[in-house]
Amino acid sequence: MRLNTPTVKIRGVKLGGNNPIVIQSMTNTDTADAKKTAAQCIELYEAGSELVRITVDNEDSAAAVPEIRRILDAKGYKDLPLVGDFHFIGHDLLKRYPDCAKTLDKYRLNPGNVGFGKSRDENFEELIKLAIKYKKPVRIGGNWGSLDQELLTKLMDKNPDEDIRIKTLVKSTLDSAKLAEKLGLKHDKIVLSVKVSDVQELIKAHELLIKKMGKKPYVLHLGLTEAGSGLQGVVSSSAALAILLQKGIGDTIRISITPQNNEPRIREVQACKHLLQSLDLRQFQPKIVSCPGCGRTNNLLFQKIVKEVNHYVDKNNLEPINIAIMGCIVNGPGESRHADIALHLPGKKEAGIVSVYAKGKFYKTLQGESITKEFIEILNLLYPPK
Ligand code: SF4
Repeated sequence: MRLNTPTVKIRGVKLGGNNPIVIQSMTNTDTADAKKTAAQCIELYEAGSELVRITVDNEDSAAAVPEIRRILDAKGYKDLPLVGDFHFIGHDLLKRYPDCAKTLDKYRLNPGNVGFGKSRDENFEELIKLAIKYKKPVRIGGNWGSLDQELLTKLMDKNPDEDIRIKTLVKSTLDSAKLAEKLGLKHDKIVLSVKVSDVQELIKAHELLIKKMGKKPYVLHLGLTEAGSGLQGVVSSSAALAILLQKGIGDTIRISITPQNNEPRIREVQACKHLLQSLDLRQFQPKIVSCPGCGRTNNLLFQKIVKEVNHYVDKNNLEPINIAIMGCIVNGPGESRHADIALHLPGKKEAGIVSVYAKGKFYKTLQGESITKEFIEILNLLYPPK
């Protein structure tokens, strides 16, 4: 059961309530380079990122925001929601660059990074008042890497023996949200996030946040911050997010991965899609069930078929059917009968003759060099691309 959150509208995208879990991502270009940033926004959006966040960290990047929007609109991406990520001087940039403030569809700010003491409250107030003026939703995104140090010290003095970082993170984020509401920002214009880089701590932080939010929960953005690179980043993010999503917590997600060796930025969007699809929360493309292969199959042929079918599925817009590709008759016929379309190899001792199943029944056998080509032809015939 999802939390009873309101719906936050960001351009055409709806977050929260019973709306589908939304995928988001963030560019890593220099925002001042409007052309490059717009190109990466498009790349992320095309890959499935339904919200795209950009860094707005200085005057040049604030000045470039309207030009990024102009390029996106001119290229036919009028629906792409652009979110501005602000730290330290967000209040100043939004005030001095009103076209940037008007152009962005949502502001993201971090209560730990808006200033110190009296100036923190003033800067925060200024940011919220600008959001109200321009009718923009705000994500109040706490991060334990940039905690409110004054609050942390105060709570530490009270409870010197406890690890109070999680408490500080949750309290600071919620206090900021309440202050924003007191200043006039509507409940359905607020998204919250509490990000940490440890799976168990992230779960603890959300458990506390849910308890403290009580009967009027805010829309939540989920993400394991600084999750790492490659497999580590994907696996630890998925572990944390899956547990929370399964409990009905979270309205939008990001999987943050440090790109390795020119790895495309869209990898994090693909990871989000796979995660949501594997939890049956969203359906994006066919699910391919394939076994790992073992000593019972001709692994060269088996892996080649799996790779080529995956490639075909990635490149074509197919309905979200189940496809099974199995290495031998141990589990092959069973999985094949459960799939919409399937093939399985016989085992390594027999010739490379594969059995194809369609809609749960044996369809035909294929053999020779063009097994994958013929299998894709059958797939095309039964489930043509949209
Ligand atoms: S289906 Fe066959 S080839 Fe695949 S892992 Fe199982 S036993 Fe091995």
